[in-house]
Order: sequence, then C-alpha cells, then structure tokens
Amino acid sequence: IKNNYETNIAYYDDKLLKRTLEERRVISEFEGAIEKKEFKMFLQPQVNTHGKAYGAEALVRWQHPERGLLSPFFFIDILETTGLIYKLDMYMWECAAAKLSEWKKKGDTVHYISVNISTKDFYLIDVYEVITSIVKKYDIEPKMLKLEITETALMSDLKKNMEVIKSLRDYGFKIEIDDFGSGYSSLNMLKDISADVLKIDMAFLRATENEVKGQDILETIISLGGKLGMEVITEGVETDKQLIMLTEMGCHIFQGYYFSKPIPVEEFEQKYMNE
Ligand code: C2E
Ligand code: CA
Ligand code: CA
Ligand code: CA
Repeated sequence: IKNNYETNIAYYDDKLLKRTLEERRVISEFEGAIEKKEFKMFLQPQVNTHGKAYGAEALVRWQHPERGLLSPFFFIDILETTGLIYKLDMYMWECAAAKLSEWKKKGDTVHYISVNISTKDFYLIDVYEVITSIVKKYDIEPKMLKLEITETALMSDLKKNMEVIKSLRDYGFKIEIDDFGSGYSSLNMLKDISADVLKIDMAFLRATENEVKGQDILETIISLGGKLGMEVITEGVETDKQLIMLTEMGCHIFQGYYFSKPIPVEEFEQKYMNE
C-alpha cells in the first residue's frame, strides 16, 4: 500500500510540475510572441439560415514556431490568471479594427467583427479609453466593432463595469452578452443591463438532444431576448436538425461548425464577402 501511495503522489507531482512548466513557458514567451505577431485573428461567421454572413467573431490562435497552431485552450486561462490577458485583447481589438478599416476602404460597411473582452480587462485597463481610441485611430464606425462580454463581467454587483459598458453603448458600440445562461445570475442581470445581442451558451443547445425540458428552456430564452428587444444568436450549431429547431423557435442568427469553424481572415473574405 505504501508503495502505491508513493507512486500516486509521484504521479500527481509530475502532472502538477508539467502544468507549472507549461504555464511558465507561456508567460515567458508571451511578450515576444506579441511582438513577433505570432497571435492570429481567426474569424467564425455569424450567419442567417442560408449561411449568409452578417459578420464574424474574432477568435485568437497562436501560431507557435515549435508547437504549431495553438487554440485558446492552451493559453487564455494562464493569461487571465497572470493578468497578461489585456495585452492580447488590446492586440486583437486592434487587428479587428485594422481589418474593418480595410474593408471600409474597399466599400464594405456591411460586415461587423465581434471581439472578446475578458472580465479581467475591466480591472486591468481603462476599457472605454482604449476601445474608443482604437476606433478613432482606424476611423471606423463603432457599431462595426461588436463587443462580446460574458455575463460574469456584468453581474449586478459590478456597478462600475455596468457603467463602462453603458458608456460604450452610448458611444455607439453594440454590446453582446456572451455565454448567456452559463452563470448563476443571468436573469437578474438582464434587468439591469442594456445590451444589443444575446448569445446563448452552447450548453443549452446540447441540453435539447431528445429532451423536451431543454427545448422549452431554449425556446423561452429566445423569445425573452426578442421581447427585450435584443438580437439572439445561438452558438455551437452543428447539425441541420438543430438549425431547423432553432429557426422554428424564432432564432435567426447562428454561429457553429455546421456553417464554418473559425478560419483565417483571407479564407473568410473569399468565402463570405463577395456575395
Ligand atoms: P467563446 O467566446 O465562447 O467562443 C466560442 C468558442 O466555441 C470558440 O472556441 C469556437 O471555436 C467554439 N465553437 C464555435 N462553434 C462551435 C460548434 O459548433 N461546436 C463546438 N464544439 N465549438 C464551437 P475557441 O476559438 O477555442 O475559443 C475558446 C474560448 O477562448 C472563447 O470562447 C473565449 O472565451 C476565449 N477566447 C478566444 N479568443 C479570445 C480573445 O481574443 N480574447 C479573449 N479574452 N478570449 C478569447
Ligand atoms: Ca465570445
Ligand atoms: Ca460564447
Ligand atoms: Ca466561453
């Protein structure tokens, strides 16, 4: 027994060590990677039933020289806990604004880009100041840059965040509530915040598989969003069955692998912008 116990400890120690080394590596390589532009903006289209794109969500990928293309899973959490996330987010907001400005010059003022704002950003930087400066610098309309904020950032006790978001909305930005329904204060929050788009968490769609209750909840959220004057987007659509169900429930904007995974910008432009 004693031996077994020791082996187990060794095993957990080993895992922990690996995790720590992994974290250290991300932290030590991060600044250099930003400078060398190893972070890439991928775009995932937000489409109507027929697959026509209204716009896209910007999702980061790390083109690592040794490890290949890394998904956010490998680094976002680490950047959030260490407080480095704001540097990545500012970089991504700027990538999106630069792209929008390029599109605008080509005559496209139809497509928007939604960017992610981490809850942590609100504590680390002056989000209002940074984002308004970026749209001025690139001379784009604020409504083309949509701001995705998860509901944890919007919880009603966070008065200060609410005020920042309200100022951004007054300035002309569209606010999207991301991962709606995944937190515990969702409904309460809706009462206090004014937002433009409700993005339903993927978990709700998963919960409808052969489940009447799950379907009822999803349908109710969609109509609630509508009643509150918000656009409703469902994320994680993977099958035509889901698409049909959602359309019948009154949702008209979708994001999911059924239409497209997040893809490099050039590919998005080829596939979605010359229609
Ligand atoms: P999120 O903001 O909820 O983004 C949606 C995630 O769902 C993306 O994962 C997307 O690829 C994935 N997804 C979309 N459609 C489907 C589908 O049909 N099926 C499945 N299984 N998944 C789907 P991704 O790109 O790996 O990003 C994961 C998370 O990392 C994002 O979740 C977001 O929280 C974070 N993230 C990504 N880019 C950024 C960024 O630039 N800044 C910040 N702060 N967070 C980011
Ligand atoms: Ca998002
Ligand atoms: Ca989401
Ligand atoms: Ca999420």
